[in-house]
Amino acid sequence: MNLPRPPVVTILGHVDHGKTTLLDYIRKSTIATKEHGGITQKIGGYEVKTGIKGYLTDKITFIDTPGHEAFSFLRARGANVADIAILIIDGKDGIMPQTAESISHIKNAKIPFIVAINKVDLVETNIDKVKNGLLKYEIMVEGKGGKVLAMPISAKTGKGVNELLEAILLLSSDLNLEYDPQAPISGYIIETKKDRRGIVTSIILRNGGLKISQDIFTNDMKIRVKAIIDDYGRPLKQVFPSTPVEILGFNELPQTGSLISAVSTSKEQEIKQETSKPHLDMASFLATNQPKEKKLSLVIKTDSQGSLEAITNSLAKNTNINIILSAVGSIHKSDIFLAKVSKAIVIGFNSAIDPDIKELAKQEKVIIKTYNIIYDLFDELNEVSDLMKEKEEKEKNLKGQAKILANFIIEGEKVVGIKVTKGKINLGDELKVFRGNSLLGETKLVSLQIRAKKANEVKKDQEAGMVLSPPLDIRVGDVVKSIL
Ligand code: GDP
Repeated sequence: MNLPRPPVVTILGHVDHGKTTLLDYIRKSTIATKEHGGITQKIGGYEVKTGIKGYLTDKITFIDTPGHEAFSFLRARGANVADIAILIIDGKDGIMPQTAESISHIKNAKIPFIVAINKVDLVETNIDKVKNGLLKYEIMVEGKGGKVLAMPISAKTGKGVNELLEAILLLSSDLNLEYDPQAPISGYIIETKKDRRGIVTSIILRNGGLKISQDIFTNDMKIRVKAIIDDYGRPLKQVFPSTPVEILGFNELPQTGSLISAVSTSKEQEIKQETSKPHLDMASFLATNQPKEKKLSLVIKTDSQGSLEAITNSLAKNTNINIILSAVGSIHKSDIFLAKVSKAIVIGFNSAIDPDIKELAKQEKVIIKTYNIIYDLFDELNEVSDLMKEKEEKEKNLKGQAKILANFIIEGEKVVGIKVTKGKINLGDELKVFRGNSLLGETKLVSLQIRAKKANEVKKDQEAGMVLSPPLDIRVGDVVKSIL
C-alpha cells in the first residue's frame, strides 16, 4: 500500500534576498524546542512538522544548502531531490541577476514552484512591482493572469511564513507524492563529510524503507548501514522517504548527489557512461549528440545587458536554438552544471573564465565557447544549429542503412556483402556511401542477392550481396544509406 510522503523543498534566489533567514526562521519556529533542547545538527536538510491539518501530510523537508549552485550540482549528479522550489525575491530590490538564473534552473528542472516575496516588513517593499517584473520571465502569478502562487513574507518577523508552509502542503497534495514502504529503496546522497565518526553521508530516500544492517548500493560500492541518525543526533532503527538522515557504514567517501539503491543499478551505470562520453569540441559534440536532440541548447553569459539582449534577440529567431539560460555575469559553476544536465554548451561573450571553472567544465565534459565578436558568435552558432537540423532531417528521411561486411569479386564483378542495420533497401535504390562522418560517394543498387538468390528487397538484420554502379572504392566498415 502506498503512503503519502512529505515534499522536499529547496529555496533559490539572489544573494541576500533572505534564503538563509527563511530557512532559519522555519526551523526555529517549527521544532519542538522543549523536547529536543532545540539543538539540531546541520545534515544537509531538515524535516519540519508544520501542524497544519487537512493535507495528505503535515511535514515538509527543506534542503538547507540553498541556492542554485547546490541545486544544479545535485541535478548534474542525477539527483533530482527537490519536489518543489521556493523562489525568494527581495520585495524592495526586485528581480536581480541570480533571480533570473534561479528561474532558468527551476524551469529546466520542470518542478513546480512558489514565489516568496520577502522583506514585507520594510516600507520600500513593492509587491506589485515584483509580480509585474516576473511577467518578463513568463511567470504569471495569481492576480496577473496566471496560477503561480506568490506569497508575501517576512523571513525576519515570520509574517506570512505559515501561509507559505500551507501553500507548500497544498501544492504537494496536487503532486500526489507517495512511496511504497515495501519497495526496494531508492534515494540520493545530499551531503558527505568526515568527522570523528568516520565517513558520514546525509541521504533522502525516495522510495522504500531503510533499516539498520541493510545493504545498499551507491555507484559500485556496497554498504552495510551501521547507523541511521536524524537531525537531532538521535539514532533511528529505520527511515522512510523524505526524512533526511545521516548514515554510517561507508568505507569510501561517495560523491554527493549519487543515487542509492537496493541493488547495483543500471541507471547508475547509464549516468556513468553518459558522463564518460567525451564531447569537448563542436564537431564531436555534433557527432555524439543523439538525433532526438534536435536543437542546440545554450547557456549564455555576457558582460553587459546590452550585449545579452542583442545576442538573445537574434538567436531567438533561430528555431533550432534553445536558450536554457541567458544572464549577465561571468561563467559560474552552476552554469556548468546546468549545461551538463540540459546537454547544452556554455557560451561566454566578453567574459573571462576562471581556471577552476575551465577545469570543472573539463571534468564534467561541458563545452565552453567564448567570443569577443558578436558576428563570430552568430555565424558559428547558426552553423552548428543548422548542421544539427540537417542531421535530424537526414535521420528522418532515412529509408534503410547497411554496413559493409565483406568485399569480393564474383565473375569479374565487384560484390559487397552487407547487413542491414536500419529499415530496408530495395533493388534500384540510390545509395549514399559513408566512411565515418564523411560522404564517400553516391551509387545505385543494380543487383541484389540474398543467399545466392536474386531479391528485390533486403530488410533489417538480413545479410545480402550487392552490386553497385558505380562500384566506388568501398571498404569493410563503410555504411550505405538509402535516403527517401
Ligand atoms: P541569503 O543570501 O539569500 O541567504 O540572504 P540572508 O538570509 O543572509 O539575508 C540577507 C540579509 O537580509 C540579512 O541581513 C537578513 O537579516 C536580511 N533579511 C532577510 N529577510 C529579511 C526580512 O524579511 N526583512 C528584513 N528587514 N531583513 C531581512
